[in-house]
Amino acid sequence: MSIPSNLETIKKSLPEHVTLVAVSKTKPIADLKEAYNAGQRIFGENKIQEMTQKWEVLPKDIEWHMIGHVQRNKVKYMAPYVALIHGVDSFRLLKEIDKQGKKNDRVINCLLQMHIAEEDTKFGLDSGELTEILHSEELSQLKNIRIMGLMGMATYTDKEAQLRREFEQLKTQFDLLQQEIPEATTLSMGMSGDYKIAIEEGSTMVRIGSSIFGVRNYN
Ligand SMILES: *Cc1c(COP(=O)(O)O)cnc(C)c1O
Repeated sequence: MSIPSNLETIKKSLPEHVTLVAVSKTKPIADLKEAYNAGQRIFGENKIQEMTQKWEVLPKDIEWHMIGHVQRNKVKYMAPYVALIHGVDSFRLLKEIDKQGKKNDRVINCLLQMHIAEEDTKFGLDSGELTEILHSEELSQLKNIRIMGLMGMATYTDKEAQLRREFEQLKTQFDLLQQEIPEATTLSMGMSGDYKIAIEEGSTMVRIGSSIFGVRNYN
C-alpha cells in the first residue's frame, strides 16, 4: 500500500475530534513529502536532531511534535519551532522548556507523560508525581510553557483487556488534570496497534507510524 492510501484509510477511521500525528521517525524526507502532499501537516519524531534536520528542509506549515524521551540539554535545538512536546516527565524538564521558550519569545505546548504500561522501560510520571507537579508553587511562574494534556504508551501487547485497563487509567488521570487545568484538552494515546481501543477509551490524539509509512528499519 502507498503512503497516501494508508493515510486516507486511517483518517477515515478517526472520529472528527481525534487528531492524527503521523510518526515519521527513521523515515526519509521523500516519505514525509508524500504524506505532506496528501494533506498531512502534523508529524511526530522521537529524536531532536533528526526532527530538526527535517524541519529545516520541509515546508514551514508543518507542526512538529516531539514524541520521544527528551534530554534537557537538547531542548534548545527544537525550542524555536516545536509545536508540541509529548514526553515531559519531570519538573526539571518543564523548567528547561520554559527557559528555552523565554529565550525564543514563545510559549511551548507540552503534554505530561504518564507511566501506564506494565513494562518499566517506558518513561513517565505516576499519579503522585503528576499531583506534585500540578501543585508545585513554581508552576504558575512558568509563563513560557502551556500544559495541554497528557500522553501515555500502553504495554506492547495484543491483550485487549490489558490495553483497555491502561488507557482507562490514563483517562482517569486526564479527567483529574482537567479539573485543575480546564484548557488541557489533549489526551495523546494510541499507536498503530492499539489506536482504535485508545479512541474508545477517550483518546483525542493518536500517534501512528508503521500503519502509514510501513515498518521501520533500525540500524
Ligand atoms: C514510534 C512511536 C509511535 C508510533 O508507533 P507505530 O506502532 O509505528 O504506530 C507512537 N508513539 C511513540 C511515543 C513512538 O515512539
